[in-house]
Amino acid sequence: METKIRKIDKNQIDEKVIEEAGALLREGKLVAFPTETVYGLGADALQEEAARKTYEAKGRPSDNPLIVHIADYEQLKKIAVNIPPETDILAAHFWPGPLTMIFEKSALVPYGTTGGLDTVAVRMPVDPVAQALIRAAGGFVSAPSANTSGRPSPTTARHVEEDLSGKIDMILDGGTVDIGLESTILDMTVSPPMILRPGAITAEMFEKVIGQVDVDKTLLSEESTQAPKAPGMKYRHYAPKAKLIMVEGDLREEILAIRQISYEADRKGKPIGIIATSETLPFYNHGIVKNIGTRENEKTIARNLYSILREFDEENVDTIYSESFAVQGIGSAIMNRLEKAAGHLRIPASEIVKLQKYRRVTFVSGTDSARGPMAAELLRHCDLKQEYVINSRGIVVLFPEPANQKAEAIMKSARMTLADHSSLQFDDEDIKEDTLVLTIDESQKEKILSEYGSRDNVFTLNEFIGDDTAIPDPYGKPLTAYGECLEVLDKLIKKLADKLNSLMEEEK
Ligand code: AMP
Ligand code: MG
Repeated sequence: METKIRKIDKNQIDEKVIEEAGALLREGKLVAFPTETVYGLGADALQEEAARKTYEAKGRPSDNPLIVHIADYEQLKKIAVNIPPETDILAAHFWPGPLTMIFEKSALVPYGTTGGLDTVAVRMPVDPVAQALIRAAGGFVSAPSANTSGRPSPTTARHVEEDLSGKIDMILDGGTVDIGLESTILDMTVSPPMILRPGAITAEMFEKVIGQVDVDKTLLSEESTQAPKAPGMKYRHYAPKAKLIMVEGDLREEILAIRQISYEADRKGKPIGIIATSETLPFYNHGIVKNIGTRENEKTIARNLYSILREFDEENVDTIYSESFAVQGIGSAIMNRLEKAAGHLRIPASEIVKLQKYRRVTFVSGTDSARGPMAAELLRHCDLKQEYVINSRGIVVLFPEPANQKAEAIMKSARMTLADHSSLQFDDEDIKEDTLVLTIDESQKEKILSEYGSRDNVFTLNEFIGDDTAIPDPYGKPLTAYGECLEVLDKLIKKLADKLNSLMEEEK
């Protein structure tokens, strides 16, 4: 089947295009169209056969009911019965808009549309293209998300094309949608009404209007043995091709954990994908990192979520790790979709972070011009299971100076360099708990302890690795002395790397 694609501008609707699309729907054909939530796959909701075609095009299980879209409030009474009184006030506040309400269905609605249920889900979208199309189609358009079942919902016409080209009659291309997540579903057949799917209209918003609402407990936990009340919520959904894992903890721990995971993955030559935010982007320097939006305005995150998941399908990654979001306001809907896309795979950030005893290693020598910087550079060249910030500092540094020239010459001969080094005085910043402080000799350790008091993160290098090979001081001696010093340091730093790597294992 050829899928016609028609551009349409919601600010200046071309009636001819709407009429053409409406005629297709009246004939029982399928037309995808933009709504403010996601793109919908439209069909005439009152034709059983049209519903069948919808399930087939999407590959959707036929027990998963469709939402009927209306453009005029009076139409609700034709398809729903026993409409509870709070409906008027909810509609006055949230319709047209991203709210779906569930009622007992009237005889007009075929069971094909409701997946065999005696209830019907109804929504009145705000998007003017959607409204015009619904009217042109006769008033009742069933419209599940216009994606292949199980894939991320479409937020652009391009996404619809990717999934459904050749399987449906027409796509109305109205640009990128506004909200980006499916509507909130509120079950009106129970009292108080119950949220079956979180969306842009939040529990907090309902409470202001009608008081207490319930939330289907199965939504956020996979432990529940009960089936969710909206049949669609039981399927793994919204899923990218790669495995998605939610990293959960406080934000700082999440960042540290994802940094560690991405570092390890790169080291094994298998980069991971990372879902980050504008605020956290700068912290990641490994893996394929995508910005899902800003934490300052979670609406941006909702809007980008599905397209980011789709973008990862173009990348060569097997696993994607995502930061988490607070479960309040639209954050509930964001976490619900991410958790479902992840098939509820999650890891606590703290588990990974606690394996990291130290995050920094700082070497301390007298003037930070030769042995300290050499040791630091040697450690940077080691294969470490964890990423450390590796520095060197001096006990007495009056002003920043480049590394000793002989030290640099000897490092160059070993294919390393101290060219970027500039000496720095050891100070308060360097003694923090997450820093392993390793002095070249005993006198520097004593100096630090006398200044900062007793600490359990300050050692001589020899002491920390349990090897008492003296580190010769080459200062003022010929180049060969620097060579001998490098040889000793090289041996000790390799031991240090082994020790650091085994520390990580021990914690496991
Ligand atoms: P979609 O159209 O892709 O946004 O999916 C529609 C969602 O609404 C699915 O999760 C359905 O299970 C849910 N739904 C539709 N009709 C009903 C109903 N009568 N009762 C409960 N859930 C429904
Ligand atoms: Mg869907």
